Amino acid sequence: MAKDNLTAIQYGINDIRLEQTPIEEPNENEVLLQMGCVGICGSDVHYMVHGRIGDFVVRQPMIIGHESSGVVAKLGKNVTNLKVGDRVAIEPGVPCRNCSFCKGGRYNLCKDVVFLATPPVHGSLRRYYKHAADFCFKLPDHVTLEEGALLEPLSVGVHACKRANIGIGSKVLILGAGPIGLVTLLVAKAMGASKILITDLEQDRLNLAKELGADYTLLVTRQDKEDENVRKIHQLLGEEPDKTIDASGAQSSIRLAIFGTKSGGVAVMVGMGAPEVQIPLINALIREVDIRGVFRYANDYADALDLVATGKVNVKPLVTHNYKIEETVQAFETAKAGQGVIKVMIHC
Ligand SMILES: [Zn+2]
Ligand SMILES: [Zn+2]
Repeated sequence: MAKDNLTAIQYGINDIRLEQTPIEEPNENEVLLQMGCVGICGSDVHYMVHGRIGDFVVRQPMIIGHESSGVVAKLGKNVTNLKVGDRVAIEPGVPCRNCSFCKGGRYNLCKDVVFLATPPVHGSLRRYYKHAADFCFKLPDHVTLEEGALLEPLSVGVHACKRANIGIGSKVLILGAGPIGLVTLLVAKAMGASKILITDLEQDRLNLAKELGADYTLLVTRQDKEDENVRKIHQLLGEEPDKTIDASGAQSSIRLAIFGTKSGGVAVMVGMGAPEVQIPLINALIREVDIRGVFRYANDYADALDLVATGKVNVKPLVTHNYKIEETVQAFETAKAGQGVIKVMIHC
């Protein structure tokens, strides 16, 4: 086996270096993967720029990357679900499998989940990486490794739409047309939503949203009046949305999610911003608008893969930039710059 295991390590703020690390031996229930693609996530950029997300602080050098796919290079001795040469998508959070959350099927809430590139856990942006075999999803021949890596953000969209109970006839408002807003749009359409309106601060993102199937788009600015935006949303849709998904995390957006949602509807919060925000709680409760949280995903990877494999969802247009692993620093500079960037994909 090749000795080259080029690895992307974050040493500190704006300090990512490429170094060789030892290739790890898979344990009995793991597989060694020759890495294929790793997408850059907003969280990766956040760690690079701020060195932390909430209580998760990068204290020691950390290997980055969690939206990934690869090819099975070696099997642990108990692994039966995969074989060498299989191309797989990697679900990056491996839970304990034993607690009440895990047993109840909500393993994203497991307190002992080990999630890639969340300090102090290392990530997968290297030539070789080992992972729990039961959290690897075999890709059919016609699904690319790039699409395999995109199953990570897509699974967030699947989970958000399930939490919102989107179905046939849903009128959906999505706030934010970044990668998560856009995958949510794709999934909501696939789940039968009849009208989808998506908002953003950038027109080029809205243009892409339109190409991806948004029925209506609304350009918002930071100076907008709240009630004006609510009125515009209801006017564009011709009615009030019964499902709203906030993929922004900004206070103004969360407030809009609540005010904009039809009485008796659901407002799902996916975006993460400041830990505390001011929201119109009384407005939500007197109109019985349910506010629901979303944290990553659980049991959604297989559904995300099915959506891609059956052609119901096309995630390929989300990739705006491609780099080799050797160009990781440049790839992160591009992701950080933001303008015109949706998803930056690194090829290992
Ligand atoms: Zn991600
Ligand atoms: Zn658990």
